[in-house]
Formats: sequence, structure tokens, C-alpha cells
Amino acid sequence: MTILQPYMPVVTLIGELTILVVLSIFILGFILLILTVHSIRSGKLLFPRFMRAGLLFLDGMMRGIFRLFGFEDNDFLKIIVTLQNTLNRKAFMAVPVSERAVFMPQCLRSNACPAHLHDEGLKCRECGLCKVGEGKRLLELLGYRVFIIPGSSFIKRMIKRYHPKAIIGVGCLIEVKEGIEMSSQIDIIAMGVVNTSDGCVETSADWDEVFRTAILGIPPEKIPDELKKYYD
Ligand code: SF4
Repeated sequence: MTILQPYMPVVTLIGELTILVVLSIFILGFILLILTVHSIRSGKLLFPRFMRAGLLFLDGMMRGIFRLFGFEDNDFLKIIVTLQNTLNRKAFMAVPVSERAVFMPQCLRSNACPAHLHDEGLKCRECGLCKVGEGKRLLELLGYRVFIIPGSSFIKRMIKRYHPKAIIGVGCLIEVKEGIEMSSQIDIIAMGVVNTSDGCVETSADWDEVFRTAILGIPPEKIPDELKKYYD
């Protein structure tokens, strides 16, 4: 009789439970993979709450499975951002525009930008050298506070100063994902709009998506003519 013999039933039980947990995780991962692939292909999300919780819970493993099936890390991040936006959409629409703000990165500006940085970000002169000026003008017409910022520390500072209840974060994929997560930790409803081109200078925002998001929940009569085409 070995020293372990009296504990064999417990050891066996632990072993069986471990196999059960590992199997459950793999089945869950496989279900999430099917739902995610379906979402990417069809553009429609099924069970967004379940998907978001599952993908975040199994983050590392899901990225591995994604890679195994030929998807990039970016596909994984994009689906997380889409899920967060879908889940936040209704709450975002309920916030009056006077309590919303837009944050966009200063890398969107032209290399020849004449604007200077001040304590609330870049003071755009709407000079026409890039699309930021026109975008900012239209968003302000809708009633948004607009900040063109060099880093996330500005977001925190402006949130402390103006207490917006909802924000639109424009930026590269990873910034947007992290921004939405940070916002949910501090009870701010965030919608993310991912840039169409990344980098450190002269990046491009998805302006159509910025405006489509910005008009959510705003009555049609309050939408400027230039933005009416984004109204469904
Ligand atoms: S529109 Fe604004 S952000 Fe763009 S280059 Fe001119 S001043 Fe700079």
C-alpha cells in the first residue's frame, strides 16, 4: 500500500474535474470561434454579451485559436471593439449630446499643421490642410465637445474637467480597445471608431463612421444638412 492510496478517490476526482474544466474551455472556445467567424463574415453579432464575456475571459487562448485558423490579432481586437460598440449603443443614444465628447488623436493632422498644443489638446485652426478641421466643425455643430489629443493622459484630464457621460474615441485599433475598456471602468459609455490607416503621422480616421456614430440618438431636425446622409 503506497502513501497515496487513502487519497486515491480525491486524486481521481481532481483529475476528472480538471479534464472536465479543460474540455469545457475548449468547447466554449470553439463556440466562440464559430460565433466570431459568423460575425466577421455576416457583419451581424449573435449573443454579443456572451461573446464579449467569453472573448475577454479566454483572451490569450482565443487569440491562439484565431491564429490557428488563419486570423490576425487585429481581427480579434476588431470584433471586441464591435462587440463593445454594439453593447454600448443603446445607452450612448440615451445621453444628450451636451454630455458627450469626442476624443481624436493629433496624429490625424497634416504634417504642416499650424496649430499649437494647449492644455486641452491641439487647438485646430480649421485651416483645411487635413480633415480634422471640418470633422471638428461638424461635430461641434452637433453639440459635441471635441478634443484633439496627443495621449490618453489628456482624456483622463478632460473627463475630470468636463464629466462627459458618453464619449466617442477615435484612434488606432489598440488605443480604441483600451480606451473603451478604461471608460467602462469609470462608468463612461464609450463608442470606438477605428482609424482606416495607422502610424504616428498623417493617419486617417473613418470619418463616415465617426459621423454615423455621432448622430446616434440625435433627433433628425437637429442634424446639420451636411450630416443628414448618415441618418438611417
Ligand atoms: S485642419 Fe486643424 S488639425 Fe488639420 S492641419 Fe489644419 S489646423 Fe491642423
